[in-house]
Amino acid sequence: MSKLLSFIGRRLVTFLPNELSTGELTQLLSPRQHSMLLSQRRATMIVNRVRLFAMLFAVLTPIWGIVDIMVFSSPLWIKLAILRLLTSAAFAALLVCYRPTGSMFDAYRAMAILFIIPTLFYIASHSLLAGYQLSSLSSAVATGYAFLPFVLMAGLAIFPLSLLENLLLASVLLVAQGLAGYLNWSTLNWPSFAGGFWLLILIAGVTALASTSQLAFMITLVRQALHDPLTGTFSRGSGKEILNIQWAAALRNQHPLSLAFIDLDHFKKINDNFGHEAGDKALQGFARRLHKKLRGSDSLMRWGGEEFVLIMPNTSLDKAQTAIQRMLDNDFGLRPDGSPLTASIGLAERQQDQLHNPQELLALADKRMYLAKQAGRNQVYAAG
Ligand code: GH3
Ligand code: MG
Ligand code: MG
Repeated sequence: MSKLLSFIGRRLVTFLPNELSTGELTQLLSPRQHSMLLSQRRATMIVNRVRLFAMLFAVLTPIWGIVDIMVFSSPLWIKLAILRLLTSAAFAALLVCYRPTGSMFDAYRAMAILFIIPTLFYIASHSLLAGYQLSSLSSAVATGYAFLPFVLMAGLAIFPLSLLENLLLASVLLVAQGLAGYLNWSTLNWPSFAGGFWLLILIAGVTALASTSQLAFMITLVRQALHDPLTGTFSRGSGKEILNIQWAAALRNQHPLSLAFIDLDHFKKINDNFGHEAGDKALQGFARRLHKKLRGSDSLMRWGGEEFVLIMPNTSLDKAQTAIQRMLDNDFGLRPDGSPLTASIGLAERQQDQLHNPQELLALADKRMYLAKQAGRNQVYAAG
């Protein structure tokens, strides 16, 4: 069974962007395993798309009022025009008041508002139109008002969403549509309602495909932008970003935050004696081994060359030292000549070392790494 699933999984991956790994597939299903930086960038992208659409709708909603003037008689089009102006103002307010903050909560709320505004417009315009006897041309235009749920459903396609998020949003729209049908059941033309509902389900399917494939591309691009291509650890830029975020969180919650500065010992000799390629392999092996020993909340970045920085949130100096010592005692792999690859490590912690900003944390860990070097390498220094 599991073999079959993994076979299907591998087949599915071939339809996705080349670079997407099997491990990243679960990130397409739900947002639970999204990294902090992926969530942050996704939230920004979603809010920006919401604002783009808010701008388009703010302009288009009143313009369509011209059609109303041409086909509807005077009290009706005036009421519709007022409704359109209110709707346009709501979209404009969304555009002006909402800025990306990088929080997924804000992104969900922005999407909800973007969908609630036209839904209210839909309900209000429907009850307005229901009160009038319409000529054939005006009832053709009035039918157009009923297309809004389809536009909303298709609109989901502009967001990079996981399958779960997509199903949740689509089912809200489907339930709303079903409810609207149920409430109008006496006047409803059942066959055409059922046909419309079926069409809505089909659009939901296509939309789910579109927005998860957007997410797939986004995961790939974000990984490439954030990670060091040789070792797969975070690059220096994104690592610094993570450090700043973790520092702010630790400060807010009064939690400890430990940081280890890791420098491989006598690395130049590997290059000199066995070539740059062998050096690259040693770096990759080191990063892979270290990665296996980390907790989910730890972040490893390549600071540059053969230097790495390990950020350990919610970890006291004692606990970090024990963990690092355990890493040193197990192994970081072998050098090409068969001797163990070792590292000198400096450790610092926000609270215990009474530091004031992330730069101080980095600088102190770096300084202690040099002390570990001077003391004979292959050891961790956490004080003095
Ligand atoms: P120490 O124990 O004092 O740290 O000695 P070291 O040789 O490790 O330190 P040094 O800073 O003198 O040398 C670092 C070397 O790392 C120099 C450079 O050739 C090598 N290096 C840096 N980046 C890469 C890389 O991407 N690939 C390879 N193969 N080597 C690299
Ligand atoms: Mg170095
Ligand atoms: Mg070194």
